[in-house]
Amino acid sequence: MRTHYCGLLNEQLDGQTVTLTGWVNRRRDHGGVIFVDLRDREGIVQVVFDPDRPEMFALAEQVRNEFVLRVTGRVRPRPAGTENPNLVSGKIEVLGLELAILNRSEPLPFQLDDDAVGEDTRLRYRYIDLRRPEMQQRLRLRAKVSHFLRQHLEQHGFLDMETPVLTRATPEGARDYLVPSRTHPGEFFALPQSPQLFKQLLMVAGFDRYYQITKCFRDEDLRADRQPEFTQVDIETSFMDEEAFMTLIEGMMRDLFREVLGVAFPDPLPRMSWHEAMRRYASDKPDLRIPLELVDVADLMASVEFKVFSGPAADPQGRVAALRVPKGGELSRSQIDDYTKYVAIFGAKGLAYIKVNDRAAGRDGLQSPILKFLPDEAINGILERTGAEDGDLIFFGADKAKIVNDALGNLRVKLGHDLGLVEAGWRPLWVVDFPMFEWDDRDNRWVALHHPFTSPKLEHLGLLETHPGACLSRAYDFVLNGVEVGGGSMRIYQEEVQSKVFKLLGIGEEEAQEKFGFLLDALKYGAPPHGGLAFGLDRLVMLMSGAGSIREVIAFPKTQSAACPLTDAPGAVDERQLRELGIRIRKPAAEG
Ligand code: ASP
Repeated sequence: MRTHYCGLLNEQLDGQTVTLTGWVNRRRDHGGVIFVDLRDREGIVQVVFDPDRPEMFALAEQVRNEFVLRVTGRVRPRPAGTENPNLVSGKIEVLGLELAILNRSEPLPFQLDDDAVGEDTRLRYRYIDLRRPEMQQRLRLRAKVSHFLRQHLEQHGFLDMETPVLTRATPEGARDYLVPSRTHPGEFFALPQSPQLFKQLLMVAGFDRYYQITKCFRDEDLRADRQPEFTQVDIETSFMDEEAFMTLIEGMMRDLFREVLGVAFPDPLPRMSWHEAMRRYASDKPDLRIPLELVDVADLMASVEFKVFSGPAADPQGRVAALRVPKGGELSRSQIDDYTKYVAIFGAKGLAYIKVNDRAAGRDGLQSPILKFLPDEAINGILERTGAEDGDLIFFGADKAKIVNDALGNLRVKLGHDLGLVEAGWRPLWVVDFPMFEWDDRDNRWVALHHPFTSPKLEHLGLLETHPGACLSRAYDFVLNGVEVGGGSMRIYQEEVQSKVFKLLGIGEEEAQEKFGFLLDALKYGAPPHGGLAFGLDRLVMLMSGAGSIREVIAFPKTQSAACPLTDAPGAVDERQLRELGIRIRKPAAEG
């Protein structure tokens, strides 16, 4: 149907006859001449229709935006002064010789260049939204990234293998999407939260290097930028330790960023222990582009007569930390109030601060509602430790460590953005030495920080039963600009160790058999040492494309409320289907 893509025509084709297909981006009438900007996936070219071919011209007069055309015409230079330096085809135009209207279009529900269209409308008419050049670019970048990764992995001996979508629940810590079984009434499949156990079984089977770019499903909280179905680049290897494996993976990421974005990552990538990340950034995915850091001040606060500080300072689960904000003295009362509301989202009961007006003047040079509670030694200690200078502000967090970390960790990032402190560029790192377990206050039990198949550090095996809280794991996260883009671990490959970890997590023998018996069995039949990781492809492409949300790099995403406005999914099904499945819908219990 065509000889060339519109967007790729250039002056080298001057004088040639070409046939193009595409959509009408814009049509203009100029004193008897009709200009059409014809668009295809490669870009735009200007087509000119002259009245001296009356039949074709009459057709051109009917053309409206988003009509689909086929045009045969002759490439010629644009008249001097009318070139468009923003287009590849900007030096030329095509003089129309033949025109066919392949299809018409009603006026669009929104204009492609209208930035104010609501997301619901954009998703409802996603096929139109996707015509916008930035959406085209993002999805093409996505294709480029997955192509690169596939090629790289295959060159390194990885085999592309599929794993089931209808399966049993795998515990990655989120809620499962369930699928009723018709042939086993009353029983359900779960959609995989990840291929975790299957990829481990592929290692037991001897495939040695596996990868898959695959959908995973998690019925998670909707507030964050998450999708019910998302794509993982899932990887597993045998007979590699974490050193070798991380080197292999960071090599892949280094090549990816060089190849696709022309960005050079450091070699080797920096590594930071989980404890250091929490201490300095109150986050297990520190954004190193933001030059703000926390310091601990519990020891200075232990004996102050201010319960808000001394309480958490004395609590082994507590944390008292200070965050210096350079030039933060300029923050107004109402801005500080807004930040106080912000940290309340994370459970913080307040946000104490000290403004440093004139450090040399000691106590008199400071300004803060809490000053009266703090003795000089505490104040001097704080100033010294934070390195605060005149004009700075110091924020405090004092509570259970988890609350302080959530509150100050997020506040640090917010301040970084609000105050324009985020440095340009890319700051990848590995976060390592995670604790194996985290104590869950609500349920009074240990939970796995990564997942229950993560191996403890071999030298910590002895701590499993005596000090689970001190036991570190062989997990690693790949963090980029404050986003966890990948995570994985060396796995448990010995049945005894796996059983011990299940027990510690409160999974009894019977439950372990019933849920993971197949894994425990497999570990008895010659499981090799193995480990791997998974990258979140959506997040990775979001970062690489500079998009603000993963929804911007997914062709057909769900809304924040996990629905699809395009197909109107999820939807009701008819009574007969339900009966076949042995399912009756219960009305939600009335509120109150
Ligand atoms: N299955 C893990 C996840 O989905 C990744 C891994 O450990 O390989 O986060």
